[in-house]
Amino acid sequence: MIDKISETLGIETWRLKVAMEKGIVQIFDKPFKHMIFRRNISKIEEGTIVNLENMDVIHGYQKIKRILYLEPVIKKYFKGKIAVEEKMNGYNIRVYMYKDKIYAITRGGFICPYTTHMLRKNDEIKKFLKDFEEYYLCGEIVGKYNPYVSKEYPEEKYFGLFVFDIKRKNENTSMRIPDRNKLLEEYCIKHVKLFGIFDKNEAYEKIIRIIKYLDKENREGIVLKDPDMKIEPVKYTTTSANIETIRKGFEFPFDLAQGYMNRIIAEAFKCFELKLNEEEIKNIARKLGESILIPFVESIKKVYEKGYLSEKFMLEIDDKNLVEELEKFLRKQGIPIILKKQNSKVVFEKIYNSSYDKIKNILKNGFYF
Ligand code: ATP
Ligand code: MG
Repeated sequence: MIDKISETLGIETWRLKVAMEKGIVQIFDKPFKHMIFRRNISKIEEGTIVNLENMDVIHGYQKIKRILYLEPVIKKYFKGKIAVEEKMNGYNIRVYMYKDKIYAITRGGFICPYTTHMLRKNDEIKKFLKDFEEYYLCGEIVGKYNPYVSKEYPEEKYFGLFVFDIKRKNENTSMRIPDRNKLLEEYCIKHVKLFGIFDKNEAYEKIIRIIKYLDKENREGIVLKDPDMKIEPVKYTTTSANIETIRKGFEFPFDLAQGYMNRIIAEAFKCFELKLNEEEIKNIARKLGESILIPFVESIKKVYEKGYLSEKFMLEIDDKNLVEELEKFLRKQGIPIILKKQNSKVVFEKIYNSSYDKIKNILKNGFYF
């Protein structure tokens, strides 16, 4: 068995064995026998899942590099045309079909019971995956009802999938963007907005205009892609999204905010690149500063007054078993939650223990420890 899996994945058997012993690779029996890669192992990405009943490999969704300064990326990184797509702010899901049933796989490689339940209501997706057995869909789930990222979009208030990639099982290759969108439109499946496929020499001006527009609309940003999908995509986010992420992150400073330096770097380069005047820079600086300090101080206050630190998520669930399943699922991943039922709605509170403990320690001892 192990030999067969390592051969399918193209990695050495001993590596796989060691990873299994260390728990980096885990095996689950339900809903079908599968293996999950919890971290990168040689060239196999974190979140990869192998269906051990038929050896289908659904590769982990690759990390997308963040652009810090736009101009050289347009000039040097891309070779031919550049596709500019919207980056939507929700959570990443790979939609896989096995034995005529849809499964929604999270970034980490887990089959999410809630997302799976919701997507099974979508006949178009089902039809697509039945007709194209060799493929799976990758997309962003957006809307306010989910246990991960709650954000309403004018085009999707509650729950919806916007596809941004069609990948071939086992190979980890992506369909060309024009083919992908044509096919999705034929099947009436929503995809992220494609602003255009531009020549390199006109792309820069267009992108600056798009980013300014998205910023005004409080939308997240763009992903730049090679229309043939032969070059790794790269992302660029708006000032409003960066500030919003930082604001949210500093509510739970020791859980979320650690990796946000790159966003501040990108904002500094953006101020320079867009030739903002002193007043415009001051305006961003004030918002940026507020987004760090205000939520942070609020959280210190909460801990001081014996409150805990949590983020609320609301779901509308019609199935009692699903509530329990989802609760178990989130806990199994080490996400501490409190669950409250309100009629047909379920409110989850995700608890951020790290931030709570550190703030409490600092309040008590004046140091981290
Ligand atoms: P990273 O991908 O760099 O590890 P992350 O998990 O924090 O970081 P984001 O910064 O949100 O992710 O950026 C990447 C994610 O953006 C993708 O994983 C995907 O879920 C999401 N996304 C939204 N729109 C698109 C799009 N049009 N193309 C590709 N990804 C998109
Ligand atoms: Mg995201």
